[in-house]
Amino acid sequence: MKSDVYFAKLRTNDPKEKASALARLIDQTGLVPEYKKDEIVPVKITIGDSQCVYNLRPEMVKAIITALKKRKTRPFIFDTNVIYTGERLNAVDHLTLANNKGFAHSRVGAPFIIADGVFGHDGKEHQIESDHIDKVRLPSFVGMMDSLVVLSHITGHILAGYAGAIKNVAMGMSCKASKQVQHSSLKPSVVKDKCTACGCCVDMCPVSAISLKNDKALIDQNRCVGCGECLSACKFDAILVNWGEDILIFYKRMVEVAGLILSKFKNKLFVNFAFDITKECDCISNKNEKIITHDLGILASTDAVSLDKATIDLINKDDDVFLKEQGKSGYRKVLEYASQKGLGSIDYNLKTI
Ligand code: SF4
Ligand code: SF4
Repeated sequence: MKSDVYFAKLRTNDPKEKASALARLIDQTGLVPEYKKDEIVPVKITIGDSQCVYNLRPEMVKAIITALKKRKTRPFIFDTNVIYTGERLNAVDHLTLANNKGFAHSRVGAPFIIADGVFGHDGKEHQIESDHIDKVRLPSFVGMMDSLVVLSHITGHILAGYAGAIKNVAMGMSCKASKQVQHSSLKPSVVKDKCTACGCCVDMCPVSAISLKNDKALIDQNRCVGCGECLSACKFDAILVNWGEDILIFYKRMVEVAGLILSKFKNKLFVNFAFDITKECDCISNKNEKIITHDLGILASTDAVSLDKATIDLINKDDDVFLKEQGKSGYRKVLEYASQKGLGSIDYNLKTI
């Protein structure tokens, strides 16, 4: 069955115009459920790395929070800690960064909560019936609330080709150990003949797993967390991952974790922001990041699979932008598997408002 995806076409940098388009999507489409009075509603966001300037805008978060409050709910915004070094590795630095990037309560109208605690370990274990992953640790509120709102800034992604709603849920709503398990099938290796010992991968690796030995890069596989950042750092194609089986396992684990998380919420609303679409995701990008296509606007749906598929189709209308930029189109396999696993429908009705 096809799901409805609503699209507010927009090419503007004016935050007020964007916020009013978002309000239209919320108020005129019937996407928002009947919330219970005083219901606490979690809103998933990602603030991006400290160097990233293209992440989700606080003004958009504020517009959603205002819409939720109008419906007499008590929303909060949240994210989890990341598995690599930087300012989102623990809740203290993460919250400070959020404040500095404009996500303070006073700016967006709701508190920001780091859902997996100070160091990213606080949560509850859930079993998954799967050949690829057997359990997952999730923030403890998952399973205790009826509703979920997921806001995603659309970008390319070094491993999945595309980062949208499904990835935001699978990685962004898992505790650190479960992020690691999802990535763990990816063990990059160095092709020595191609390595020029430039050291870019050494600087880029967020867990210091790469060193230079005898003028070649060497990856410590025990330390590596499979984030894939060295792949984008190397300009000599000297770092390889197994784009066959290993990456498929990564996609499948990601989809299965997203499926389990989404099954814990009755009411779901997903919003994709297709502005400033960069080659790399907000964990890697900085102010020099390449913008790979023009702005499209805002898309919303209650079905994450339809929403991501519609977003990709609009971006790739004339050309497979992600394939061209990233050299891979993994998102097709992600979406097909997500649809097979019942996360949503790959077919959709696009309704432009
Ligand atoms: S970035 Fe590539 S070429 Fe440079 S040291 Fe690393 S593997 Fe070698
Ligand atoms: S994938 Fe590369 S950058 Fe990421 S942790 Fe492993 S060696 Fe480091």
